[in-house]
Amino acid sequence: MNNENNRRDLRFVIIGAGMAGILAGIKLREAGYDNFTIYEKADRIGGTWRENTYPGLTCDVPSHSYTYSFAPNPDWSRHLPPGPEVQAYFAKVTAEYKLADSIRFNEEIVSCVFEDGQWQLKSASGIEDRADFVIGATGVLHHPKFPQIPGADSFEGALFHSAQWDHSVPLDGKRIGVIGNGSTGVQIISALASRAQKLCHFQRTAQWIMPVENPEFSEAEKQAFREDAELLHRMQNDETLNANIERFTQAIVDPESEAMQQIEAYVKSNLENSVTDPELRERLRPNYRAACKRLIYSPDYYQAIQHPNAQLVTDGIECIEPQGVRTKDGVLHELDVIVFATGFHADRFMRPMNVVGRDGVALNHVWSVRPTAYMAVSIPDFPNLFMLNGPNGPVGNFSLIEIAELQWNYISQLIEKVAGGECREVSASREALAQFDRERIAAARKTIFGTGCNSWYLDAEGVPATWPWSRSRFAEEMQAPKLEAFELVS
Ligand code: NAP
Repeated sequence: MNNENNRRDLRFVIIGAGMAGILAGIKLREAGYDNFTIYEKADRIGGTWRENTYPGLTCDVPSHSYTYSFAPNPDWSRHLPPGPEVQAYFAKVTAEYKLADSIRFNEEIVSCVFEDGQWQLKSASGIEDRADFVIGATGVLHHPKFPQIPGADSFEGALFHSAQWDHSVPLDGKRIGVIGNGSTGVQIISALASRAQKLCHFQRTAQWIMPVENPEFSEAEKQAFREDAELLHRMQNDETLNANIERFTQAIVDPESEAMQQIEAYVKSNLENSVTDPELRERLRPNYRAACKRLIYSPDYYQAIQHPNAQLVTDGIECIEPQGVRTKDGVLHELDVIVFATGFHADRFMRPMNVVGRDGVALNHVWSVRPTAYMAVSIPDFPNLFMLNGPNGPVGNFSLIEIAELQWNYISQLIEKVAGGECREVSASREALAQFDRERIAAARKTIFGTGCNSWYLDAEGVPATWPWSRSRFAEEMQAPKLEAFELVS
């Protein structure tokens, strides 16, 4: 078979039609691969931006940075875009690139098994497919984590997880309790403080809050972006923002750096200057280092929690009763609505799908200690399967779109090895992953994430599961795969 035929015949399956799956579809088509299907378990594209619809949902990464490099958007309404606008952006890009025909909605892939040199896939509804390549674009934060609080079933009001918001439940003038103060809980409090009759924020661990401004783009600015592609390009590739992100990732890597001291100084002065009541200020003061948990960027949380209707509850939760939440000091906080803003199982990735590689090796088994992947994209013995935003990738307060694009650049070069006829199967070697893991884990323990707080960044053994080096090192690695780290099977 000549190379052109080989390219045409290769079949791809992409799992997930969120930000990364849409990217993969666009990039495959651009490279001349038309034989692909994107399977999506839900009825619409969007991933996390489809699932999360809570009041106050905002992308805390600047809008022009949270944009595909090839699909600039002059119409972002604000510096930090509202969630529905991000969802609409992905829908618009999907339409512009005519991807919808390649997506099969309401089809959850439940099994993905490597047999006879191809991936055999099955969906929950019984559809079967075969592919030469599988791209796992299943996201990170999409399995809601429910707290084990006794009595939750007995609550007589409405109770739901932040990622499963029940919009039929009235909020105005109601007594609302929000459990959890991660990026989600904080945004919900900001949105509801002036709407609720009483808003209880149940805080188990205080959070450092980075102040941020969120101005609107004026009509004149948006018009200028529409008319001047160069201006829009500069906005999207803002040098100051990029330098700040680089500095931020260096601060994460070196907790003693001047950059980290600066971050600490910012969040401390935000707390000092924004909270007037000294008693409340102390209850809001974390006892661990800034950025150990994912930093919360909020223009208005401190104002919201000082609103007369709002109340910070720091006595631990004893149980949930029919009328509300009882805390350990014996107080019953009577409520109409309880929201679990309690985060996600962040270690699932492609699971619960049954993924089985060469010689019957199950991903669940390979990942029994911790999910891991060479350079965050490839797993030994799982040939021609690549992940976007998979385990050990960079996470933090920056755009995961950029991360996925860099990963695609890397993955596409591995795909070309097969398309060009150099081999039939490609995956990281066991040795390469073992060495990567050793170095990654040693470095991860020294990052700010490993300085003694609890967060979703930590794996089951308490090791940060993240990329532990700088953004520029990641970008460099993603320029081209080091082929000696891969097993190419003819
Ligand atoms: P999270 O950061 O994991 O926070 C979960 C919160 O729930 C924590 O405050 C945790 O307290 C609390 N919690 C969990 N179980 C509890 C229990 N049994 N009792 C009391 N409190 C409990 O989850 P998230 O806020 O949904 O955010 C997850 C991630 O989503 C973020 O870090 C971010 O990456 C992403 N996100 C991004 C944006 C954005 O704008 N880009 C917005 C929202 C979310 P402890 O701290 O004590 O564990």
